[in-house]
Amino acid sequence: MAASIIDGKVIAADLRAQVAGEVTRMKRDHGLTPGLAVVLVGNDPASEVYVRSKHKQTQAAGMASFEHTLSADVAQADLLALIAELNADPAVHGILVQLPLPKRLDTGAVIAAIDPAKDVDGLHPHNAGRLAGGLPALSPCTPLGCIILTKSVHASLEGLDAIVLGRSNLVGRPLVQLLLNENVTVTIAHSRSRNLPELCRRADLVYAAVGKAEMVRGDWLKPGATVIDVGITRVPTVEGQTRLIGDVAFNEAMKVAGAVTPVPGGVGQMTVACLLVNTLRAACAIRGLPAPGV
Ligand code: NAP
Repeated sequence: MAASIIDGKVIAADLRAQVAGEVTRMKRDHGLTPGLAVVLVGNDPASEVYVRSKHKQTQAAGMASFEHTLSADVAQADLLALIAELNADPAVHGILVQLPLPKRLDTGAVIAAIDPAKDVDGLHPHNAGRLAGGLPALSPCTPLGCIILTKSVHASLEGLDAIVLGRSNLVGRPLVQLLLNENVTVTIAHSRSRNLPELCRRADLVYAAVGKAEMVRGDWLKPGATVIDVGITRVPTVEGQTRLIGDVAFNEAMKVAGAVTPVPGGVGQMTVACLLVNTLRAACAIRGLPAPGV
């Protein structure tokens, strides 16, 4: 029997609707409009697309959206000065610096300059440390989305075996911590890991966050496994366009797995929806209000 497709579009739309409902309630009951500031440096076309989508979805959820576009040759000091301004701005509850930054800028220093309470990308060492310590934290959006997608298939993740392919600060590492919080048994693999197919075949939950198109084959999967494909590789088509391919050989996975996320239409949809969730959570925490219901 073919696997079911986990529809990230539908699940993300539902999450955005829940956020919009909470924002309406915040405005009515507390006069609070959550605000998200996005900082884009330069004019990388892919980053511009992401920033536009974040802006549109933030406004659609009833939040305030502040966009700051700086030229590619901006000085590090000027970028840090903008972040200091946003840290101090009471209308801004979330700050996201679109990555990657131009190579000559010090990304670590830029992230560290963001007020951890407004760090809706969850990349500040304060939040990464709290997450690793099992404490409440603003967590990176893509791993949060992965957990929600997995829970659309499994009511409880407790005791399941998972493998996370990739150990980046953005995806793999925080995803491992979130899975531990759900009482999952986790293996984390990377470019130096041996016997990846064998490790994958043991897993009930497979998370692929590597960036190698169709690396995970059907025969790497345990029958019935849930497969969450984070990877995005842009490849040219014969028509001269580009299309997106995930880290998992989708058609092969569909014949073995129990449930699979498509690319596009899976994890990517969840990332922006979770950014809205984090902005809402940050706004409530900054205002001293109880955590929202999403
Ligand atoms: P990254 O920082 O480049 O990390 C890639 C990870 O994959 C590294 O840990 C690397 O291992 C590991 N790796 C590389 N080759 C491997 C191999 N042959 N076997 C096993 N592991 C290997 O990438 P990232 O930022 O985490 O992103 C990963 C993918 O997810 C990319 O395709 C990215 O575009 C996509 N992504 C999607 C979303 C979304 O919203 N859908 C969000 C973020 C990222 P080492 O540590 O040993 O180098």
